[in-house]
Amino acid sequence: MLPGFSLQSLTQKKHFNLSTLNISPYICKTFVKTMELAEAKKNLNSIGYLDLKIPKDLDLIAEINKMRKEKNAVILAHYYQDGAIQDIADYVGDSLGLSQKAAEANADIIVFCGVHFMAETAKILNPTKKVILPDQKAGCSLADSCPASAFKPFVDAHPDHVVITYINCSAEIKALSDIVCTSSNAEKVVNSVPLDKPIIFAPDKNLGKYIMEKTGRKMLLWEGACIVHEAFSIDKILDLHKKYPNAQIIAHPESETPILKVANYIGSTSGMIEYAKTSDCKEFIVATEAGILHKMKKEVPHKSLIPAPIHQNVTCACSECPYMKLNSIEKLYLCMKYELPDIEVPEEIRKRALLPIERMLEISK
Ligand code: SF4
Repeated sequence: MLPGFSLQSLTQKKHFNLSTLNISPYICKTFVKTMELAEAKKNLNSIGYLDLKIPKDLDLIAEINKMRKEKNAVILAHYYQDGAIQDIADYVGDSLGLSQKAAEANADIIVFCGVHFMAETAKILNPTKKVILPDQKAGCSLADSCPASAFKPFVDAHPDHVVITYINCSAEIKALSDIVCTSSNAEKVVNSVPLDKPIIFAPDKNLGKYIMEKTGRKMLLWEGACIVHEAFSIDKILDLHKKYPNAQIIAHPESETPILKVANYIGSTSGMIEYAKTSDCKEFIVATEAGILHKMKKEVPHKSLIPAPIHQNVTCACSECPYMKLNSIEKLYLCMKYELPDIEVPEEIRKRALLPIERMLEISK
């Protein structure tokens, strides 16, 4: 930068007009762009993404497709992402499928359209690849409900317990675990532990309770929960069911027990999509994040999919994850263009977190 001048003063031309220096318009433009990028990088951690203007007439989809080829990038997206992001992704799936894809990815860049712990898992599994996330503030209430500072003393207080953690947790929590699981394989993972071994299950208490019922194993549960799945109202779901008596209720196991008790099918996001495809039923009340409906509608266009209602009255009459929805096509474009924000995991934590994830992948084969 020119000494003594801030970017703001230069771009707002408070001190002088760059054109008076007899510099070509191209160099002026490049200079301002460089300064804007420097400013955006400085603010990356506080904002979560590079806050840069995108020309209105730019075809973002075409640009993303071009960069995907040029940079040898693979775009992975969770079912809870916006439809536009799911449509442009190379692979759309649940946490298990996304981990498997991240582990085997041979692209140079993994663009992870999901939340922070998912991108972190991709980095743990495939550390030589650059892993980028459109908005690094895309966190998770469930992961936040289990901070390492509280979980470590809990684990230390039960040294004889096998520690099973749901994948929705930070790298530090995974590093304190024996086996990781997802909602697709939690039952299998719990059943893999010898019967005489006591188990700690964290962080989701609702999934933990459900797996205790399924396996008959008593487990010590961490009291964590997901705001999106705890938002469903059992009373409103039952009222809705009176209106659609032929509909089946399908629910994700992160939902609360009363909802799981009335559900005709309980399973992971992939499991729910598969059930909607294979069931003879023509109507479903769907109790999970509303983003899943995008994929479900494609798979079963002739069936009726009704989002399960939540306690609050919101315009979409459904439950949306505010973290997942932080990602957008614009942020996806910016993160691919500048390869930021990128995800790093300290090597010592990564190595310890890798083992329990690998155990899960092995059990899930
Ligand atoms: S839906 Fe719930 S568990 Fe999934 S990312 Fe959002 S807050 Fe976390």
